[in-house]
Amino acid sequence: MLDLLIRQVTAVTMNDQGQILEGANIAVKDGKIVFIGTELPQEMAARTIEGGGKIAMPGLINTHAHAAMSLMRGYADDYVLQEWLNDHVFPVEDKLMPEDIYLGTQLSMAEMLATGTISFTDMYMHLNQMAQAVEDGGMYGNFSNAGMSFDPKSYDFDADDVTRQNREALARYHQADSGRLLLDAAIHAEYTSFPRLWRDFAGFAKENRLNMHVHLSETQKEHQDCLQKYGKTPARMLYENGVFDTRATAAHCVWVSEEDMDLLAEKQVTVAHNPVSNLKLGSGIAPVARMLGKGLRVSLGTDGVCSNNSHDLFEEMKLAALLQKGVTGDPRQVSAYQALWMATRAGAFAQGREASLGQLTPGYDASLILIDTNRPGLLPIHHPESTLAYSAKGGDICLTMVRGKALYENGEYTTLDIERIRSRLGGVLNRLFRA
Ligand SMILES: [Zn+2]
Repeated sequence: MLDLLIRQVTAVTMNDQGQILEGANIAVKDGKIVFIGTELPQEMAARTIEGGGKIAMPGLINTHAHAAMSLMRGYADDYVLQEWLNDHVFPVEDKLMPEDIYLGTQLSMAEMLATGTISFTDMYMHLNQMAQAVEDGGMYGNFSNAGMSFDPKSYDFDADDVTRQNREALARYHQADSGRLLLDAAIHAEYTSFPRLWRDFAGFAKENRLNMHVHLSETQKEHQDCLQKYGKTPARMLYENGVFDTRATAAHCVWVSEEDMDLLAEKQVTVAHNPVSNLKLGSGIAPVARMLGKGLRVSLGTDGVCSNNSHDLFEEMKLAALLQKGVTGDPRQVSAYQALWMATRAGAFAQGREASLGQLTPGYDASLILIDTNRPGLLPIHHPESTLAYSAKGGDICLTMVRGKALYENGEYTTLDIERIRSRLGGVLNRLFRA
């Protein structure tokens, strides 16, 4: 007996053949897709969803977030990056308690699920609370607490609190629930640390076979400062110190050079492109068309919502495509399908989940979303990939499913208590912003 059958749906499979199937039936058993095609499976199903008027696609993957920053949504807008960070974000972060991280991460997961995201790569503090929030919320999560130090003399990798948290999370949460939770190694950025720290973290990643997550050349200033300090670019410095020797995600890459892009391509680094955050902080526009031309893999991220201010990956898809058309003057750059690819297949690879996520294919996790196309803003449908990349909004999602289980359906959550999240917010906000 099947657990679920989705009948007569338009399926944008994102598989290797790029198939888009009309009137498809998708069968789910034990959390996996067991069949997808236009024939009707013989087996009975415990639940059937009528897919008429809906599009099914793989759940979206957010490859750069700081989820608990949702507590600061709309708190510090329209500042330059250094002022935003030093005068507004850091003072609040100093007051964050471990339980705030759990709450902020849950709030972000509620938003992500309601807008079609099933998996996210997070970099923030208090690993145990981040991981516990992911474990309880039912999403996939690659979580990390990034190495950062301004004092090479006193820095001791083994004594550092981030290392202590990493080792604890490695033992307790890494690979939990059959790999739904993954610990990543992370370095905050070139400008917030130094070569010995990079080598220590790269070694830790290699030893434990972890992915690496790092901010790279987000602003022109950090890129130029690094050139002045070392005579080399941030990408070159991290490359030479082994940071890209395990599977790595480099967030932003707005100011990378031609040679930087070649180095990243050589190491198969995924660039996590965050167009909304880069625009909002005035950082610039990453040369994504150029990257794709060089065979670099580009995925999408939202960054923290204090610089976004939402986790809606549909916005990022549309902007990622439009920006490249605008800056190159060539509307053929970054097609609708390529934007979808960034949010699914590229993201799955970045997270080390390409064997289970990113496409609707038998054997893959049944982690998919349904979009209600009966809404006026989505009709009519000439090309489903265009509908998804250019017309759909996160709010058009009617179902978000992870491993065959609906985590969000028609406004309701099955793993998150949204009323409790709302009611706990007040006290936390009072302590953080009004004390
Ligand atoms: Zn970031």
